[in-house]
Amino acid sequence: MSANQSHPTTPPEHEAGASPGVSTQAVHSGPPRRKAYHALTTPIYQTATFTFDDTADLLQFLEGEGTSGPDARLEYGRYGNPTVTAAERKLAALERGEDAVLFGSGMSAITSVLLATLSTGAHIIMTADSYRRTRQFCEVYLNRLGIETTIVPMGDYRALEAAIQPGRTRFILSESPTNPYLRVANLEQIAALGRQHGVTTLIDSTFATPVNQQPLAWGIDLVVHSATKYLAGHNDLLAGVVVGNGDLIQAVREARGIFGSIVDPHNAFLLERGLKTLALRVRQQNATAGAVARFLEDHPRVRRVWYPGLESHPDHAVASRQMQGFGGVVSFEIAGNLKTTGDFIDALQLPYIAPSLGGVESLVEQPAIIGYYDTSPAERAALGIKDNLVRLAVGIEDTDDLINDLAQALDRF
Ligand code: PLP
Repeated sequence: MSANQSHPTTPPEHEAGASPGVSTQAVHSGPPRRKAYHALTTPIYQTATFTFDDTADLLQFLEGEGTSGPDARLEYGRYGNPTVTAAERKLAALERGEDAVLFGSGMSAITSVLLATLSTGAHIIMTADSYRRTRQFCEVYLNRLGIETTIVPMGDYRALEAAIQPGRTRFILSESPTNPYLRVANLEQIAALGRQHGVTTLIDSTFATPVNQQPLAWGIDLVVHSATKYLAGHNDLLAGVVVGNGDLIQAVREARGIFGSIVDPHNAFLLERGLKTLALRVRQQNATAGAVARFLEDHPRVRRVWYPGLESHPDHAVASRQMQGFGGVVSFEIAGNLKTTGDFIDALQLPYIAPSLGGVESLVEQPAIIGYYDTSPAERAALGIKDNLVRLAVGIEDTDDLINDLAQALDRF
């Protein structure tokens, strides 16, 4: 299947018609339909705490009365906030999970879910080609707590299974698609391995969004996102989310109340607002990235293009089966070195040079410099970060304008 074709595949648990589509969910799910003062949009409850009428009211609350349902009352801003709840419910609906827990950043979501559930002596497995800071957290900070991490190559399910230590391995953690090579994990296979060995599976689905992929529907236990990226979509806030079911997600919620890592109500409002246009933005970004990838693949000054929508990508088959779209990030190697790759990026007029992805503005980066500036060439080579690699995260500009800009920059560097 080529990058511009839409996908017939739906995850096994939700065939078409079983529930509203992702665009409808993005607009309507989450906040209660009737809001305070009949406002159409979600109010920002900018409050640090919540009040009680009298001691009897407080005691009723402590005994659990009125603590569930759409109008659940709250006690203190570190434990929850109605604006945050509205965004969490929308995200849970989009990812088809029972609950979602919002954090102040993607890293806060990832570190909290691991800290909430792991104890000294535990072991986790992580696929390579993952966000550098997640890997650093596991290899440095969890290691200090006596929690060991094994990194296995992406796509090697034999190595993944062989790395499982019975009784000790607690988590299999993978991104999909990954950064920067956009490798796509076989979610069904990872979920099956997790179930077989009693290991919790966690997918960082930041690059995919629930528009393109819903890991829980493939049997994965927990999904995390840097909501900073596509979910919020406007490059103007930091947030993170964990979505899942049952006791596991409850443990994450309880830990957040103690870690103090809840998202701010104003950012939760912006996120919930941004989510309403998620499907529109992501489908546009899928289409543009697919066109950009095909343009680059045919260009004589481009050596290799990494985009799961291209047949040349190692995970094209699994991506075609499992994703409804291939995402808005294209990585490519140009016929240049560390210096001339920078010259190419400098010749681009439209994308901003910046880390991050998923917003309305296109962003471009040279991973060898922007994410790995403090590493030696040998360290970068070991991590597979090439000097001539460019990562373009497309925004919602007109596709032709982006392609014309790439064409003129490729002619000039
Ligand atoms: N996960 C992935 C795949 C990311 O790309 C990032 C950030 O770039 C994060 C997690 C961390 O998210 P945040 O920057 O919101 O803390």
